[in-house]
Amino acid sequence: MSIQVDDVPMAAATAASTAIPSATTSATGSANRDSRIHTHSHIKGLGLGSDGMALPISQGFVGQTQAREALGIHLGLLREGRYSGRPLLLVGPPGTGKTALALALSQELGSKVPFCPMVGSEVFSGEVKKTEVLSGGFRRAIGLRIKETKEVYEGEVTELTPAETENPLSGYGKTISHVIVGLKTVKGTKQLRLDPSIYEAIQKERVVVGDVIYIEANTGAVKRVGRSDAYATEFDLEADEYVPLPKGDVHKRKELVQDVTLHDLDMANARPQGGQDIMSVMGQLVKGGRTEVTDKLRREINKVVDRYIEQGVAELVPGVLFIDEASAHVGYGMLHLPQQGARIANVTLYNGGHGVVSPHGIPVDLLDRCMIVRTYPYKLDEVRVVLETRCRVEGTAVSPEALEKLANEGIQSSLRYALQLLTPASIIARLSGRTQIEPQDVGEMNSLFLDAKRSATLLREMQGSAGGPQNGSS
Ligand code: ATP
Repeated sequence: MSIQVDDVPMAAATAASTAIPSATTSATGSANRDSRIHTHSHIKGLGLGSDGMALPISQGFVGQTQAREALGIHLGLLREGRYSGRPLLLVGPPGTGKTALALALSQELGSKVPFCPMVGSEVFSGEVKKTEVLSGGFRRAIGLRIKETKEVYEGEVTELTPAETENPLSGYGKTISHVIVGLKTVKGTKQLRLDPSIYEAIQKERVVVGDVIYIEANTGAVKRVGRSDAYATEFDLEADEYVPLPKGDVHKRKELVQDVTLHDLDMANARPQGGQDIMSVMGQLVKGGRTEVTDKLRREINKVVDRYIEQGVAELVPGVLFIDEASAHVGYGMLHLPQQGARIANVTLYNGGHGVVSPHGIPVDLLDRCMIVRTYPYKLDEVRVVLETRCRVEGTAVSPEALEKLANEGIQSSLRYALQLLTPASIIARLSGRTQIEPQDVGEMNSLFLDAKRSATLLREMQGSAGGPQNGSS
């Protein structure tokens, strides 16, 4: 199952996509990232009508209609492959949905299009060069759809559910991964493509319908571990209906499509040969050995990828690299990035930082190449609907009066601040024996926590009373 191309062993796309989590989750700091994405779990898309106009409330999105429509146009350009390799900058006050817009765009693009979210601060590391972190991000955001024509055996294999591993196959416990039920169409079975090597192993083991086999996940080794008459009976298979798996003629030529990112290929090929199995990977982790992806390796992989594309074996899937809180330093890093290869292009979205030296925190020459979309502050009604949506998603009960108070907090401070109060306010309500958040719970939150504005005011007051220098930059 590995693609071997000249001197670059392109480790199996399958191995890459199973051993390495997908682009959307594999980036560094994933836990942090997941929690960031979690706060947008109510966002399901841009919420546009078929005419491209934003519906007032749709797919979790409320208001911000101009920005959503602008991103809708952008989405069309992306789908037509007419906006690859250029940046889109989202600018607007804090908490006005810039990150939510980027995630909505990625959802519209579909799960096959890589989306790599990162935060500007990730670029600053004592160990890794800025351009290296950005290069990694770019390569996570560039997908490759590899099309392979393979000889496959199409048998019917069913995976055991946890209940089935207990009964009727309890004797074999949890080690059994699959039950072969032959080529019959049996209710509840799933079609699973078998690699020819596994098929051969099955033949060698003389597996017949109703046999229980164990397929070793990493090596594909097949072991016959018993029979499952009970299983066969359950599906009305008589013992004499057991037929050996047919030979030869069930081999079919099939086009298999595998989606990987350039980063997956970098990582899979950076590993020492023979180190694909979980034990060696674990061994490397335990020993603290780091896989090193060198520029040379990337260049070689680019060359092979280019050749694949020319031969029609692979297709490039430009994705989205989303840089939240982009700063001038991140921007300069982008400008100094070495060429990734002529055919390799992707789209970059920035969430402009606040209070930094260059306009929007982006170097002017990069800014000049950006398409810029603006977000606006919210109205009370919009904040109220977003809060209501979040309460529904989180299963948090809130009284109408408390919702109104929270919505006002959202206007006076920021939508994010109001959203952040929901969970602690529900805890306070519960501790006080209430089943829903009431206005006094929101009031208590305000005595316990500061919003950004009050905290900045407090800081200024403290600096003033200490007679220290008034530092205007924030
Ligand atoms: P910052 O500039 O501070 O990073 P931001 O503009 O990226 O902020 P988000 O993080 O997208 O703002 O928004 C804050 C929260 O409000 C998120 O939970 C987001 O999903 C939600 N939100 C923002 N705008 C909308 C909207 N128009 N509809 C629904 N939810 C929204």
